[in-house]
Amino acid sequence: MESLDQSIIKSLNRSRILRAFRENEIIQKKELADALRLSITTVTTNTNQLLDEGLIEETGIAESTGGRKPVVFQFLKNAKVTLGVDISPHQVKMILSNLSSEVIDVVSWRNDVFDMDKTIEKIEVETKRLLQSNHYSLEDCLGMGLSLPGLVDADSNRLIHAPNLAVKDYDFSKLQARLGMKIFIENEANVAAFAELILGAAENNNNAVYVSITEGVGCGIISDHKVAKGTYNKAGEFGHMRISDRPLACSCGRSGCWELFSSERALLRIYEEKSGVKVDAIEAFFEKYHEGSSVAMDTLKTYLDYLLVGVENIMLGLDPEVVIIGGDIVRYLREFEPMIEAYLEQNHTNLLSRDNKLVLSSLAPQSALLGAALLPLVEMFGY
Ligand SMILES: [Zn+2]
Repeated sequence: MESLDQSIIKSLNRSRILRAFRENEIIQKKELADALRLSITTVTTNTNQLLDEGLIEETGIAESTGGRKPVVFQFLKNAKVTLGVDISPHQVKMILSNLSSEVIDVVSWRNDVFDMDKTIEKIEVETKRLLQSNHYSLEDCLGMGLSLPGLVDADSNRLIHAPNLAVKDYDFSKLQARLGMKIFIENEANVAAFAELILGAAENNNNAVYVSITEGVGCGIISDHKVAKGTYNKAGEFGHMRISDRPLACSCGRSGCWELFSSERALLRIYEEKSGVKVDAIEAFFEKYHEGSSVAMDTLKTYLDYLLVGVENIMLGLDPEVVIIGGDIVRYLREFEPMIEAYLEQNHTNLLSRDNKLVLSSLAPQSALLGAALLPLVEMFGY
């Protein structure tokens, strides 16, 4: 029987070889062995297995540099698929993506009143439809990752608490049994940070923080190129750090929290406070801004001040290479990047290095959705 160490090494080697096949359009065994510093025997064993599993194929013969002409292989990125689901209070989004995290199909629907059981029923229906209409079977699907706005216990597939969904202690094993596929659940900000780490702005960073701006504010911390969840899976709750003594009540039971000043809801409330006019969506607010409303301009300035105070606190506390702002609001904030830069320039102290960068997510608003679809791939690619 092989030891645990040997089994871990075998699995690591397989993941590295598979990643190398994915990263190179075509590759030969000798090149692979040299690049990964593995023996040709290890590469051959794994290549044969991957051929059997249909994850790679022989695609031709390369020119010989002496001796037998080498076989060239290519990765079959569409051989298997994965599903990602992003559940938020008013909208559910689902994607079907391939092994290279390319989106094959997408579906979304809105909820007026959130109901988890109805959402699960709809996810089940849409899963079958997405697989069928794209000519995949249940066996072709490696699993489903779910992004949830709350505290999760990924090991037991339980959503412990999600105040914004009004859900407590929900067991996703039910969905796993109904679908007949593996389910992976994760907190929204953590899974979005994971997407930024594998596919986005933090790809080349060891330390980063992802700030998810939705109806609330959550953060995912990347430390030493891994998502750091803390002792009790609660790390990154910067949305509830106190930044004001205004007695505004927060969903956490306290007051003055950062998310009361930097979430989407906060932007709309600040506008209402300044103008006396209620707007119910950020689209409508930015329309007013673009129509030249001076109150909307003043609102945006106040909002960005609050947002950036929190970002600075995060930078001061964690010294990340980059803070990434994500969420639906990013598509509206892109044009204000020079304004944000100028603010950081004016306010930086000698404690804050200008090497601590702030960027808007290039994956937004899909970071959490893409991250969810990555979860079933973790075991295969060993991210
Ligand atoms: Zn709070």
